[in-house]
Amino acid sequence: MELLRAFLDVLFPPLCHLCKAPVPGAGPLHLCDACLGAMTPITSPLCPVCGVPHRTEGGIDHLCGSCMLTPPPFDGVRGALLFDGPLQELIHRHKYGHKVHLRRPLALLAIRHLTPFVQSVAPDVIIPVPLHRSRLRERGFNQAVLVGAVLSREWRLPLLRHTLRRVRPTVAQVTLSARERRANVRGAFAVSGPAGIAGRRVLLMDDVVTTGSTVAECARVLKDAGASAVFVITVALAPPGR
Ligand SMILES: [Zn+2]
Ligand SMILES: [Zn+2]
Repeated sequence: MELLRAFLDVLFPPLCHLCKAPVPGAGPLHLCDACLGAMTPITSPLCPVCGVPHRTEGGIDHLCGSCMLTPPPFDGVRGALLFDGPLQELIHRHKYGHKVHLRRPLALLAIRHLTPFVQSVAPDVIIPVPLHRSRLRERGFNQAVLVGAVLSREWRLPLLRHTLRRVRPTVAQVTLSARERRANVRGAFAVSGPAGIAGRRVLLMDDVVTTGSTVAECARVLKDAGASAVFVITVALAPPGR
């Protein structure tokens, strides 16, 4: 089977998900070196709480001013890569272009960059950031659930799809100020079946985290429902200052 696959790869090399260049021997990721090289992995020094990388080169992780002044309700966020360039394109095609097969490269990027963090925080369950049912009806799928299902298998963590619900529709956070963003998501989430998370360490996940207000509100609700810790992972984290 392996041999057959290798042979077929030579005859019909897989194409890069983004630029369609042939990528022989690409493995399951199917992204060419040029596209991959244009993505920016998030590395230390970063803020261990919000996960935003510091602008300085070198040095150790330390709290950013904002997390120091207002400690967020989550215990730590980590993003695999910065939300820009070809990754932004990949995420948009997955979500808005209905290319559900792109859950795989997105999950593989998360696995590649975030496995050490996930192992270090030892979560009990994984919970995808939910969509409101009106949005779900319109899109037909929740991208965080699709990516989360792959991560759940890889990391052998139960995926709780129905524990956290978005009970109120919200407008896109991009257009809002920081204060408006917090108001926009306040009261938008609820937990059903808190027994599943009581005293447990939750790994909350989304495809993109921009300002952190949505995951902060989810974390607040999960902790109110008894979660002992809430860590957040995302494939893409907005660069500082966005
Ligand atoms: Zn490419
Ligand atoms: Zn921070």
